[in-house]
Amino acid sequence: MITGFQSNPVPKPKGEQGNEHLRKRGRAGMAQRKRRLQAEPLCRHCAVQGLTTPSTVPDHIIPLKDGGTDDDTNIQCLCEQCHAIKTAIEAAQGTGASNHPDWLRPSAIPLTIVCGPPCAGKTTYVEQNAKPGDITIDLDALARKIDPSYRQWEGMLEGALLNSAIRARNELLGSLSRLKRGNAWFIVSAPTQAERNWWQDHLCGNTHLIDPGADECKRRAIQRGTPNAVKGIDEWHRRARQQWQPKGKAQTFTEQGRVVW
Ligand SMILES: [Zn+2]
Repeated sequence: MITGFQSNPVPKPKGEQGNEHLRKRGRAGMAQRKRRLQAEPLCRHCAVQGLTTPSTVPDHIIPLKDGGTDDDTNIQCLCEQCHAIKTAIEAAQGTGASNHPDWLRPSAIPLTIVCGPPCAGKTTYVEQNAKPGDITIDLDALARKIDPSYRQWEGMLEGALLNSAIRARNELLGSLSRLKRGNAWFIVSAPTQAERNWWQDHLCGNTHLIDPGADECKRRAIQRGTPNAVKGIDEWHRRARQQWQPKGKAQTFTEQGRVVW
């Protein structure tokens, strides 16, 4: 028996990132997929909301391309919709436009960074406190400006639109260091204290966290007729409990697929 080979690293096929090369393919991959779905037949994210939905996708909690392992401990089984939401959020972080551009400079005018989950009342808070001539920076408002048919938490959000909106947001955030008058308001979900600190360190504003609690946010989501936002609220709270660090260098956005919110 030849020994020593096992410790050799698996060669990385060209163009694959992180641990993508660990992914089992072909028959072995299919058997592994079946086994994992049998082990967790109901969607984990839906279960948190008290929903019973068959799982269809064994999902890497930390994506392989980001260095996650292919062990069962890094697997959660999800339904199609929950998987699409998770993928969309990850895609937004990996688009050509950086979600957390390092080049940002401190704001030259007073800045309030308003954070919180969907339906927390961030926009309302800014509307009530902003004065005429103030600048408000909000990714969703930018997406609506770019594509007037876009409605948050309704129907489809295209990766390309998100990418354009993030670029537009970066432009506006970059302009803050050159402004002379008025106040600035920046609306961002930022579920973790670490991310809120990151924004505060780079933009030198005050952070204002609005979180009326998941139940109240969900009640508002239903009342507004955007029940999909309930998933976003759960995602926010899930992320709030996780580690956070800014993504490294921006990657090129390759998938132009549409995702369902
Ligand atoms: Zn689900």
